[in-house]
Amino acid sequence: MPLPNLQRPGFSASLPESADVVVIGGGIAGVTTALYLAEAGVNVVLCEKGTVAAEQSSRNWGWVRQMGRDPKELPLTIESLNLWRDIDRRFGIDTGFRETGITYVCRTRAEIAEFTAWEKYARNAGMPSTLLDPSGLQKVLPGITSPYKLGLYTANDGRAEPEQAVPQMAGAARRLGAQIVENCAVRGLETAAGRISAVVTEKGTVATSSVVVAAGAWSRLFLGNLGIDFPQLKILGTAARIDGVGAVPDMPVGGGNFAFRRRLDGGYTIAQRNANVAPVTPDSFRLFFDFLPTLLTSWRELKLRVGRQFVTELNMPRRWSLDQTSPFEMIRILDPVPHEPFNRNALVNLARAFPAFSSARLTHSWAGMIDATPDAIPVIGPIEAVPGLFLSSGFSGHGFGSGPGAGRLMAELVRNEKPCVDPAPFRYERFLKNAAKAA
Ligand SMILES: Cc1cc2nc3c(=O)[nH]c(=O)nc-3n(C[C@H](O)[C@H](O)[C@H](O)COP(=O)(O)OP(=O)(O)OC[C@H]3O[C@@H](n4cnc5c(N)ncnc54)[C@H](O)[C@@H]3O)c2cc1C
Repeated sequence: MPLPNLQRPGFSASLPESADVVVIGGGIAGVTTALYLAEAGVNVVLCEKGTVAAEQSSRNWGWVRQMGRDPKELPLTIESLNLWRDIDRRFGIDTGFRETGITYVCRTRAEIAEFTAWEKYARNAGMPSTLLDPSGLQKVLPGITSPYKLGLYTANDGRAEPEQAVPQMAGAARRLGAQIVENCAVRGLETAAGRISAVVTEKGTVATSSVVVAAGAWSRLFLGNLGIDFPQLKILGTAARIDGVGAVPDMPVGGGNFAFRRRLDGGYTIAQRNANVAPVTPDSFRLFFDFLPTLLTSWRELKLRVGRQFVTELNMPRRWSLDQTSPFEMIRILDPVPHEPFNRNALVNLARAFPAFSSARLTHSWAGMIDATPDAIPVIGPIEAVPGLFLSSGFSGHGFGSGPGAGRLMAELVRNEKPCVDPAPFRYERFLKNAAKAA
């Protein structure tokens, strides 16, 4: 099921026989790619197996932040924030974007060391991140309790509304000429003379020379059927909506064990920060050594779980032919079960930090499958072994904020234009084993 407030404009385009570019996946990565391609006058079709934005792109916290990002990813995130600031005016839409600032609050020595180091880095990079002492914290976050010794505040970070932003962007793309087809799973690709020649969907075939795979948590499975190994694992992120809260600051705030964002519908989206479930699946074994370094540094934040997901993925076909029903038709919307203890803990922890949350109650909860790469940096660029094939995936829990930047970058790469940021950190080929890299 999609989330209850997901905007559903209804996209009723039928599948054309040909297109300049076909985008696979109607999350923020695919929709923004289609948006910037359509704005440039490119004939683009977007195929979504279920409903636009019904997976990660509507289930996230709605934070749009540059603070704390990996330096390799930072230029893209800054570019993306610039696009967010103007996107509503530029396309006549309402994504709910607000430049509220974001603050992290610290209690432990490790948190203080981490954010102090980041502030130094940000200062050198010309970003407006500042450290706040307890009195500065009280000014920016009135109502916060005293154990918090330090804050890191970035005035030009912000937030947007996940359940409306991407459907609104998709509506804008359609008005600019993009054809958006829902309930249209792409089964695979055809090649001729070594390059992309067509996309095969459950509704028919589209002749094209360029394809952008933006299939979120499904990208590994999709590419695997083409013999392309994309190292990607799924991590379960849980969140909840609450209401009945007293006066609380307008900006998103994160502590070591809580996070919240005020929503435009008057409630709050909350979560237990630094707490995710890592379902153990057959891919966990196949990719064990790729992800081992991440596992070693972030095991405290991950709860390994052997359960239903193992059996589901074990039974899911990894190879299929294009005239067969594909796994993408079997699960239209990935709607995993949330890990409720995280939400209950989040509310308790929030009320300790901001007593105004003491009277709040949970109204509903949900989860989403975060698509993680071994270095937590996405792939945005061509897959060089297959001319005409591009990948925009593996956003590792950051893709909502960096979505517009990723879409713009991908549109530029597909059109062979000068890219807005250096695409080198996002190359797919960084994951190839040395022999394949050299080939
Ligand atoms: C709980 C949670 C909290 C998060 N919080 C934040 C946050 O605060 N800030 C932030 O920046 N990021 C956040 N993220 C991450 C962010 O939501 C994702 O990085 C981003 O939405 C990824 O977008 P996407 O387009 O790559 O994938 P998705 O939104 O998952 O979209 C992929 C789409 O592809 C479709 N698809 C797959 N295979 C096929 C196929 N074969 N044919 C047709 N369609 C197909 C799927 O149905 C899906 O709609 C969070 C994520 C979660 C789960």
